[in-house]
Amino acid sequence: MVKILNIREVTKPIASDIRNAYIDFSKMTISLVAIVTDTVRDGKRVVGYGFNSNGRYGQGGLIRERFAPRILEADSRSLLDESGSNLDPDRIWNTMMRNEKPGGHGERSVAVGTIDMAVWDATAKIAGKPLFRLLAERHGLEPDPRVFVYAAGGYYYPGKGTDALCAEMQSYLDRGYSAVKIKIGGASIDDDRERIEAVLRRIGHAQLCVDANGRFDLETAIAYAKMLRHYPLFWYEEAGDPLDFQLQATLAEFYPRPMATGENLFSHQDARNLLRYGGMRSDRDYLQFDCALSYGLCEYQRTLEAVKAAGWSPRRCIPHGGHQMSLNIAAGLGLGGNESYPDLFQPYGGFPDSVRVENSLITMPDLPGIGFEGKSDLYAVMRELAE
Ligand SMILES: [Mg+2]
Repeated sequence: MVKILNIREVTKPIASDIRNAYIDFSKMTISLVAIVTDTVRDGKRVVGYGFNSNGRYGQGGLIRERFAPRILEADSRSLLDESGSNLDPDRIWNTMMRNEKPGGHGERSVAVGTIDMAVWDATAKIAGKPLFRLLAERHGLEPDPRVFVYAAGGYYYPGKGTDALCAEMQSYLDRGYSAVKIKIGGASIDDDRERIEAVLRRIGHAQLCVDANGRFDLETAIAYAKMLRHYPLFWYEEAGDPLDFQLQATLAEFYPRPMATGENLFSHQDARNLLRYGGMRSDRDYLQFDCALSYGLCEYQRTLEAVKAAGWSPRRCIPHGGHQMSLNIAAGLGLGGNESYPDLFQPYGGFPDSVRVENSLITMPDLPGIGFEGKSDLYAVMRELAE
């Protein structure tokens, strides 16, 4: 019988001097969690690891005071699958959410998502499989270890001009990406137009996404749409407030090319509302829900059900966040790809050391669990917490 012995959390800085249209990252933190089990695989104790995605802060208070104690206080048999030989992520999720009212998700969804990541890592390690293979098996799907990734960057920072922006984009192309993203909305519309034109000239046939980080009111969002629609952009991301579905729906009248949003919707109910009321178009738009901010993979599977029920393909989901958890979901459940931040949020984001990007595709290595052990700088930080 598997037993969870301990759940540890530490809040770490991932500060940098970048900013998008809404926030700067100079005080950004992250929660790292280790779930220590009594089970041994390949001569090593199984420890599951998780962390929250960038953009929301560490959740040490909620994790230590509320969600980890509920798991540790539960009868350990109640956290296992029928056979008793592995953890049951859904049962653990239900245990964490005991005595939580519906709605008003706040940032508890980040705390739960962080623990959920560690639970799935441990579960796949105990099963002796990469998470993407375990997921595909559970859903009766054929896994595809090749995943599309694009390079997100193009932030504003002090003293950075158009030349530096273009050099940054060129460095992503040099590292194998053929799709890149820059921020907009943190400068005037004329400055942003110049940035976009300069980057398009530099990247040639590669694809460009632009991201406003929810900054615009309707009038500004439309003004940008009228400017942006003259360029062959891959997508126009998060124009207005994440919960302003009417703005998103109205914008579609002014922007015929693909749009993307969803990284700040934290439950399957919120995702379903976007699909019901946001005017998103299933033949061209993209959905960016990030499991590590929105109650984890147990909830993300419900979100995918809502996506399918609304007539969308999972291929239109390209999650925010750039972590290996979403890479596993993409490879296992047939998503359209994943975000990646080649130069930011290290050591948490990115790929195992052996992985190379070619034509904006990576191939998942066959590592048990989520694959954190294959990324040496990340695993060094994780081991510090567990040992
Ligand atoms: Mg974004």
